[in-house]
Amino acid sequence: SKDIGRNSYSFFTKEMNQQVSQRLGIETQLRRALSQHEFHLAYQPVMDAASGQMVAVEALLRWNNKELGFVPPDRFIPIAEETGLIVPIGEWVLREATRQVAQWQRHYGLPLRLAVNVSARQFQGEGLLPLLREVLDETGFAPESLELEITERLILNETASNSEQLLRIHEMGVSLSVDDFGTGFSALSYLKRFPFRVLKIDRSFIRDICTDQGDASLTKAIIAMAHGLGLHVIAEGVEEQSQEQFLMASQCDMLQGYYYSRPLPAADIEPFIQRFQQQ
Ligand code: C2E
Ligand code: CA
Ligand code: CA
Ligand code: CA
Repeated sequence: SKDIGRNSYSFFTKEMNQQVSQRLGIETQLRRALSQHEFHLAYQPVMDAASGQMVAVEALLRWNNKELGFVPPDRFIPIAEETGLIVPIGEWVLREATRQVAQWQRHYGLPLRLAVNVSARQFQGEGLLPLLREVLDETGFAPESLELEITERLILNETASNSEQLLRIHEMGVSLSVDDFGTGFSALSYLKRFPFRVLKIDRSFIRDICTDQGDASLTKAIIAMAHGLGLHVIAEGVEEQSQEQFLMASQCDMLQGYYYSRPLPAADIEPFIQRFQQQ
């Protein structure tokens, strides 16, 4: 049994070493990723439930590195947040997404909204508001068409300056969305205190709405509560028609998920956008 103990110990440290060096590898590569032009954005449509129209796209960051290959956001975003690299990366995301969507708006004559994910780190310091002003100015992007998605976690770690920044952003005409709603174990009072326009129900609730009575009830209750507070609701992770039917019957405003489209690079999502121009 001593042997087993020793073996599992050395196995454990080997695993840990691997994880540490993987993390270091990601961090090292991440520092050069912007200057090496290794990022691109994928866009996922958001559908209006009542009209079936595409009303928005969410920009999602993609990273393809020479050595590491494709690294999913869930692997590198936390490291970008810890190291502060998310600030310049997030700035690039904002510039690139508004540039691209402004071009689509002009070209297809569509009132397409844009949702961009923003990390807590980007709210620290004074940089976000001037950046937003500059980017909107340069691209001519209407602030009313821009939506910043922030997770419940950010709102929970709210500092005084955070809540003031949220107000200032709102005053600029830019909308704020609560992302991953329902995963934050939070008191709900923040929904009343901050100027949110949209609440996004996390896909962990949507996955089993057709088979799990609890998830079905929770989803309906969230939609009713959000509407009572004057918020629009987006359901994330819609993968099947049965989920769409349930959500439409439950008065959900907007739908997003693989059922409509996976997040796709700009060139591949354009035919999808084109379809809605002709209607
Ligand atoms: P999120 O903001 O909740 O984004 C939705 C995630 O769900 C995306 O994963 C999307 O590809 C995935 N998804 C969409 N529809 C479906 C579906 O029907 N089924 C399933 N199973 N998944 C679906 P992705 O692109 O891997 O992004 C993961 C997370 O990384 C995002 O979660 C967001 O928190 C973060 N992220 C992505 N891009 C950015 C960014 O530019 N800035 C920041 N700060 N975070 C980002
Ligand atoms: Ca999001
Ligand atoms: Ca989400
Ligand atoms: Ca998420």
